[in-house]
Amino acid sequence: MSEPSLHYPFADAPAAGHTCEVAPGVRWLRMPMPFPPGHINLWLLEDDGRWAIVDSGLATADTRALWARLLADYRPSRLICTHFHHDHAGLAGELTREYAIPFSMSPPEWAELMRLARQHSGDDAASRAFFLHHGLPAATLTAAIAAFSDEGFAGAPPDAYHALFAGDTLQIGGASWQVLVGEGHSPGHVLLYCAEKSVLIAGDQLLPKITPSVGLNAGNAAGDPLDGWLASMRALQGLPADTLVLPSHQLPFVGAGVRAAQIIAYHEAQLTRLRTLAADTPGCAHALARALFTRLTGAVSELMAVSETLAHLRYLETRGQCLHETGADGVERWQAHAPA
Ligand SMILES: [Zn+2]
Repeated sequence: MSEPSLHYPFADAPAAGHTCEVAPGVRWLRMPMPFPPGHINLWLLEDDGRWAIVDSGLATADTRALWARLLADYRPSRLICTHFHHDHAGLAGELTREYAIPFSMSPPEWAELMRLARQHSGDDAASRAFFLHHGLPAATLTAAIAAFSDEGFAGAPPDAYHALFAGDTLQIGGASWQVLVGEGHSPGHVLLYCAEKSVLIAGDQLLPKITPSVGLNAGNAAGDPLDGWLASMRALQGLPADTLVLPSHQLPFVGAGVRAAQIIAYHEAQLTRLRTLAADTPGCAHALARALFTRLTGAVSELMAVSETLAHLRYLETRGQCLHETGADGVERWQAHAPA
């Protein structure tokens, strides 16, 4: 029997800055991004003659110009951001001030937005110490931090926010949207589910062909983000099979349960590979990341691979399957018990 697959009801995406209807009162808007995957999907929800916006896009000149044209036709009522990453919330402050609309996200995401706003670029001592401790070479780290601080894809955040919590219900244009909150990719990622439309706005929590980063970094160094991520995937497996999933990248699809199961299987396979690697050749997270991810393409991808490897090591550690020790050189090294 062949593996169950995803179904894509829309073969083509709207052009950048254009919209198309994907469900009654739900429109799909694409905005450009100057780095892979080259676009982000945003959503407009009909809201009593105006439009609730879900996610803002990057704070780039392109996105700004497309919004200015579009919002002449779509009078906005409010902005909801799924999570704090630049492609989702970079332009949130500008949009909310320019159009005097309220802003909503979950409290952990708001805390991250505030932290980013406080953090001066190139002045992230905690992050630097964290990655040196995990074996990332100083030159690679410097190059990665320079690449991040060159971004400039986020403007000043909104002045205030309405807190969204799991279990809340938002009334938007006569439809009830249930707030779900996922973890792992970001600390309190909001998803919106409308049972009557059978639509899930999934953000980055459920993408059809990419597994988004689930990483450990200076900000969540004591956490177990992969545990939260896998729990979120299991929760999504409970959605009705006919749910139309609206992801932040790539195409809308049907098959939430199938996709969540694929993602769980991917991480389980990574955990097994990592456990075997760290049993055969104990080492720092950087050395293990280079063995686990064979197609690294530069400083940023190397830093992200270390972060992702650490999330998997922490998951194994929490379950008593590996240990770590800091050497005289200040670098932490991991050793796993071989899988049975
Ligand atoms: Zn994201």
